Amino acid sequence: MSEKIPYKIYLEEHEMPKQWYNVRADMQKKPAPLLNPATLQPCTAEELGNVFCDELVKQELNETDRYIDIPEEIQEFYKMYRPSPLVRAYCLEKKLDTPAKIYYKFEGNNTSGSHKLNSAIAQAYYAKQQGLKGVTTETGAGQWGTALSMACSYFDLDCQVYMVKCSYEQKPFRREVMRTYGANVTPSPSTTTEVGRKILAEFPDTNGSLGCAISEAVEKATTQDGYRYVLGSVLSQVLLHQSVIGMESKIAMDKYGITPDIIIGCAGGGSNLGGLISPFMGEKLRGEKDYRFIAVEPASCPSLTRGVYAYDFCDTGKVCPLQKMYTLGSGFMPSANHAGGLRYHGMSAVLSELYDQGLMEAVSVEQTAVFEAAQQFARVEGILPAPESSHAIKCAIDEAMKCKETGEEKTILFGLTGTGYFDMYAYGAYNDGRMSDYIPTDEELQKSFDTLPKID
Ligand SMILES: *Cc1c(COP(=O)(O)O)cnc(C)c1O
Repeated sequence: MSEKIPYKIYLEEHEMPKQWYNVRADMQKKPAPLLNPATLQPCTAEELGNVFCDELVKQELNETDRYIDIPEEIQEFYKMYRPSPLVRAYCLEKKLDTPAKIYYKFEGNNTSGSHKLNSAIAQAYYAKQQGLKGVTTETGAGQWGTALSMACSYFDLDCQVYMVKCSYEQKPFRREVMRTYGANVTPSPSTTTEVGRKILAEFPDTNGSLGCAISEAVEKATTQDGYRYVLGSVLSQVLLHQSVIGMESKIAMDKYGITPDIIIGCAGGGSNLGGLISPFMGEKLRGEKDYRFIAVEPASCPSLTRGVYAYDFCDTGKVCPLQKMYTLGSGFMPSANHAGGLRYHGMSAVLSELYDQGLMEAVSVEQTAVFEAAQQFARVEGILPAPESSHAIKCAIDEAMKCKETGEEKTILFGLTGTGYFDMYAYGAYNDGRMSDYIPTDEELQKSFDTLPKID
């Protein structure tokens, strides 16, 4: 192709995806089923329906339909902020003086500032369809809570958010955005739930954790009439909704005849990475093309690179179904690093299985190196990235620098999941030289692994 690739590749409305892609349909060996924590048998749709919305349960259990229609109303909502730009990072390439061609898919172009809105709007839609009054959820760094608040206000649903205490205190503006959209925000652990009171009694000084906030939100959903629990990552339904990121990227790249060699994403619970790579992974699974996929996680919370592949609880309170995944143990309390959205102890079952099969790689990176990459990126590409997203930037820069050494002109695509305007504490710590790199010891991890449920 002689035509110069534009800085930003957009799609016309009519080119936008009308279906989500369900990568499980193309997996020979499927992810292991969710287990009921009481019986240790695979969860039935009926059991899951007590916690989750009915249609979302169907999607969660659907391993066979390759494509699932995006309802019209969701497509319309998407059109307000999608397609998200696919950017050729010419300026970064020049700065790095690399022969690599770098692209990023920027999901920070909406008020929530991240990709989470893609699934929030879908989940709110199905809750509304079911005639529910509202939904409960947890939020770590606050991006998911913000996205869900926006989605709920759009469909006139009540939104109750349990926000991990340290972020509640560190990010007051996130909280106010949520309240502006009408959500009710409670710091977790709280005294409003039984599980919260129990955790507080045991650990009165806790900063909270995602696993703990999940337990509270689930309890709230199951003890109020007309409420269900919704989750912003980890679940297969969330990866499904996020496949819109990968579908758009693929359509845009195909338009210009671009084929990525390496696709990179940060991994917290795995939803943006899973969504970005899905259609490409589908091609790899079907033997049509080959790509390298790299999951990037913080060295302080290294579920893929140092975790074990086992059944574990998804939450500290052990009320959620058990999932087979790469995990650090549900009791693992990561140090209070600044990439709040990547502090989950486990990983998507789909990505865990793909990783276990050797179809995806994983690397872990340290916090200060991540912020160095964030700063470098902000200075040349103009976007102030979220700390979470900056994990992917760090890895993309590393891969581009390898190309510089070898002279290879590889094409790199990475997910730029969001903006970092609410993370200026973290940037402040970095700018002041106060940022540290905490890496858990093997002993610490082993202590957490010892508490894993014993299931074969
Ligand atoms: C939540 C979040 C992540 C991590 O979540 P995944 O489910 O792993 O995608 C990454 N980046 C941003 C900006 C986030 O808000």
